[in-house]
Amino acid sequence: MNGMAKRVLITGGAGFIGSHLADALLAEGAKVRVLDALVPQVHGAGRKRPSYLHPKAELIVGDAGNLPVVTRCLKNVDVVVHFAAAVGVGQSMYEIASYVASNTQATANLLQVLSRKKHKVRKLIVASSMSIYGEGAYRCARCGPLASAFRADASLMAKQWEMACPSCSTPAAAVPTPETKALDPSSIYAITKRDQEEMCLCVGRAYGLPTVALRFFNVYGERQALSNPYTGVAAIFASRLLNGQPPLIYEDGRQSRDFVHVSDVVQAVLLAIRKPDADYQALNVGTGRATAVNDVAVVLAKSLGRAIQPKILKTFRAGDIRHCVADITKITDRLGYRPQVSFEEGMTRLTAWLCSQKPKDRTARAASQLTVRGLVR
Ligand code: NAD
Repeated sequence: MNGMAKRVLITGGAGFIGSHLADALLAEGAKVRVLDALVPQVHGAGRKRPSYLHPKAELIVGDAGNLPVVTRCLKNVDVVVHFAAAVGVGQSMYEIASYVASNTQATANLLQVLSRKKHKVRKLIVASSMSIYGEGAYRCARCGPLASAFRADASLMAKQWEMACPSCSTPAAAVPTPETKALDPSSIYAITKRDQEEMCLCVGRAYGLPTVALRFFNVYGERQALSNPYTGVAAIFASRLLNGQPPLIYEDGRQSRDFVHVSDVVQAVLLAIRKPDADYQALNVGTGRATAVNDVAVVLAKSLGRAIQPKILKTFRAGDIRHCVADITKITDRLGYRPQVSFEEGMTRLTAWLCSQKPKDRTARAASQLTVRGLVR
């Protein structure tokens, strides 16, 4: 689809990323319809329209997997951005059926409606995730790129956190992860995100509906649900700090991720809507820069003016990966995407917003849910 979208349906558009996308689309003159179930874990028990959702965004409260509701929502829509999902790696390991229903089955139902052709949709964007890679890409100085990277339970029990080369056992270095890396999801959440990506691309190709899967890395920023202890490292740490508690960090805190500010994710979605160059492709959306999880806690504490050190637990969660940073060559070449917000600038913006928030800290309860099931060792 070339040029600007006229009417966009954002499923999950009352959430963190979707609401920022709604603002950007409305600013461009598009009409925005949001289909969102206002899941209590994200929005609180009252299930009220979030105050941050742009007043010009039309909100339909409903499930993205409900066939009649989706059919109604697609009326006069030319772009669908599918963000609706239950989001939480650890929680997905014990709420298995509900994650598969909210993510895989709901996407199947949405695609069922889109396959019927009685609509005007000309582009489908689906939120995929870096979690589908499992571990990121690694390279051994002696043996070259690792074909697959895996940390055995025995190594983790011995608190050997870093990845070792399976051939020569020397430590392997994390390198940027390209889209060509084999997918190896290590949680139910990640499996459902792979399902969403693959099902959307498959149906898009079969029906000639230009579809783009965007593999978001660790998105952070204003409006991320602070009282939801299952998702968003920066939000979870901020919630702890604002309640005078130390952030809890598994392993040794040196595990790293690619933290991308929500405004850069919005940039990527707008480019994928406007330009045809990424149609039928899956693309990484990150910054290309690795940040240690410990550094997130330290920078946040400093910028919030809290003299609280994180608590390094030296335990590990089943399925957690050590390092994953995006190779953003493909999205840069195809769409001209360039991340604009540095980690430091993004943390400053996040802190300015955090100062007006009063989150409830539910981290300890979420951690104990994993511990009682033996998912923390
Ligand atoms: P979020 O929880 O803030 O937003 C998700 C929204 O979807 C919520 O408003 C929720 O009420 C709604 N929802 C959930 N299930 C639904 C359903 N079945 N029907 C209708 N609405 C439903 O999460 P977010 O961070 O904005 O994530 C948006 C998308 O990006 C998700 O698909 C997520 O998997 C993906 N993603 C996010 C990150 C990240 O770091 N935040 C990283 C990778 C991928």
